[in-house]
Amino acid sequence: MIVVEKVKEMQKIVDSHKKDGKRIVCVPTMGYFHKGHLSLMELARDYGEIVVATLFVNPTQFGPNEDFERYPRNFQRDLELAQSVGVDYLFAPHIEEMYPDNFFTKVVVGKFTDKFEGVKRPGHFDGVATIVTKLFNATKPDTAIFGQKDFQQALVVKQLVKELLFDIKIVVAPIVREPDGLAMSSRNVYLSEEERKVAPKIYEALNLGIKAIQNGERMRKRITSIVLQHLRQFREFYIDYVAVVDSETLEEPEEFMTGQSVVILVAVYLGKTRLIDNVLVTVP
Ligand code: AMP
Repeated sequence: MIVVEKVKEMQKIVDSHKKDGKRIVCVPTMGYFHKGHLSLMELARDYGEIVVATLFVNPTQFGPNEDFERYPRNFQRDLELAQSVGVDYLFAPHIEEMYPDNFFTKVVVGKFTDKFEGVKRPGHFDGVATIVTKLFNATKPDTAIFGQKDFQQALVVKQLVKELLFDIKIVVAPIVREPDGLAMSSRNVYLSEEERKVAPKIYEALNLGIKAIQNGERMRKRITSIVLQHLRQFREFYIDYVAVVDSETLEEPEEFMTGQSVVILVAVYLGKTRLIDNVLVTVP
């Protein structure tokens, strides 16, 4: 595996592979790899000959009171893990490479960004759309892999690609979980022992929502209450939001229809740590 720090060098490398008819697959990440990241890198191989993982903790997608400074980082470990799953290039630019002084441009996606994460984290998706655009231009992928873990982000990226005419296929990969159900996240290392014990209740709550839908419940508010009620039993949680929405539009109808694909989205704080998770379910 080759580590690349400069945009120009990255572009030269992918250009030369493309000339040889190789397909490039990009996996954007902020590092501190876990099995979720690695599953994306492994899946990438199914879509092309050259796998480029990117590692960049993007400051513009963090709010002023968020955890940019303390976001976990371990470059050496990430290098070894990416190598172990057969990544060809790790694009790991320094901050000045992506945001030199006098950087004025922002990419604003006008759909899917006005609710949930977009409201709770103002400016977050502008940061995401801007860095994703830059990473796409640096790595010129045919396909890019994103995780369902960041459900709304995947929708925003798809919208970005569609509306700005990026010739890139977006693949969304399933959530990888710990054995007890907690969705893997770089932020899980923030959790105290006590918090870590409660964290799997998020997935439990989501599963109660799934079960309700599968047992015939179609009323959005009732499904939401079931999930909320479970979470509220644990005073360790501060609930940021629970939303039960159409998975394609993020709309919130009073009642869901047979065959509709629904996503249940949860964001909670455990102490200072903000965790998100979601599940997809088709209405029977
Ligand atoms: P991050 O480094 O947290 O920005 O995540 C990089 C990519 O990995 C994003 O597309 C995430 O959605 C995805 N990802 C994060 N956690 C998981 C997980 N537990 N399972 C699958 N994909 C994940």
